[in-house]
Amino acid sequence: MSQLRLDDVSKVFTDDDGNDVVAVDDVSVDIGDGEFLVLVGPSGCGKSTTLRMIAGLERITGGEISLGGRTLNEVPTQERDIAMVFQSYALYPHMTVRGNMSFGLEESTDLSDAEIQELVEETAGMMGIGDLLDRKPAELSGGQQQRVALGRAIVRDPEVFLMDEPLSNLDAKLRSQMRTELQRLQARLGVTTVYVTHDQTEAMTMGDRIAVMNDGELQQAGTPLELYHEPVNRFVAEFIGEPSMNFLHGEFDGSAFHAGPVAYPFDDSVAGAVGDADDVVLGIRPEDVDLLDAGETGMNPEHEFEMQVTVVEPMGDENVVHLEFPHAGGEADDLLATTGGMRTFVAGSAVTVHVPTDAIHVFDGETGEALH
Ligand code: ATP
Repeated sequence: MSQLRLDDVSKVFTDDDGNDVVAVDDVSVDIGDGEFLVLVGPSGCGKSTTLRMIAGLERITGGEISLGGRTLNEVPTQERDIAMVFQSYALYPHMTVRGNMSFGLEESTDLSDAEIQELVEETAGMMGIGDLLDRKPAELSGGQQQRVALGRAIVRDPEVFLMDEPLSNLDAKLRSQMRTELQRLQARLGVTTVYVTHDQTEAMTMGDRIAVMNDGELQQAGTPLELYHEPVNRFVAEFIGEPSMNFLHGEFDGSAFHAGPVAYPFDDSVAGAVGDADDVVLGIRPEDVDLLDAGETGMNPEHEFEMQVTVVEPMGDENVVHLEFPHAGGEADDLLATTGGMRTFVAGSAVTVHVPTDAIHVFDGETGEALH
């Protein structure tokens, strides 16, 4: 039983001027046995501090961290049965791969030297670095060093893996290959894993569940699809999905959303959920916006608008089309739509834009909380 629990965990640092810096603020999350949880958020939101508290590298200033029901608060790092993989790999430069992988195992296990060597060789084989065991880190590529760092964590057979942006020093192609490999490996080993990244693509593709943090606070924890379809607030909605969700500022008059000259009637279910809020933000993902040809009308004329194409970014398999949507204050909001790569759009031309009601999100204009 190795469920990892964080209960109201906080970390307050004191900076050089004696001021408190709240790096992590009352974070609670349960990570199931064998689960892959991705901790994601912008730079400085408290991800690494959270991971370091789980590892015991940072003392917690409030709350409790427990593993399999046992509190870890006062347990020293080396007794936590947790292995951490860092962004920098943190390999010992003067030791060979073999030395790096076996270092410390003599003290921490009852295994004989021969058994340790066998285990190291078996793990190195699994990681595809079996023929590099006698090399030093400086004689390895970035990707190979990364495998050694992972191998060193795996050979310890810990209850929990903690990974802090382990793929961020790799080039894009290797990173996406390692993403898949790591996922497969974690599923096979069944080790509870907490993985920190600021990259939403990594979070979406790797996590069984994702925990989104901002400003030290946990915003939402859920499966990738829950976060994508049912973000609890505007921050999560904007962070998850690429390109980001469009946000249109406007007012709700009880039945329709208004932004400049545009009136967009809400369905009864949406209007009911929005209630008496008047300052609202309408959210629509670029992939949910339909583009028709100019002058063409579809099945939902009241949810279709003529807009101007400002920029077209052809990506091969798809186009990212930038459109101009009028703002309540008179300025224009940029509205993004993604469409199939075979369709052509010309900057400066007009198109009919359909914003389907079953794909919209509505947020409170002040608090950012999801209303629908
Ligand atoms: P990044 O993605 O940039 O690594 P992060 O989400 O991992 O960021 P943390 O490193 O956990 O963020 O930092 C969270 C906050 O705590 C930041 O505001 C940071 O400046 C602050 N912080 C971290 N370590 C210390 C420290 N030792 N003393 C004071 N403040 C700190």
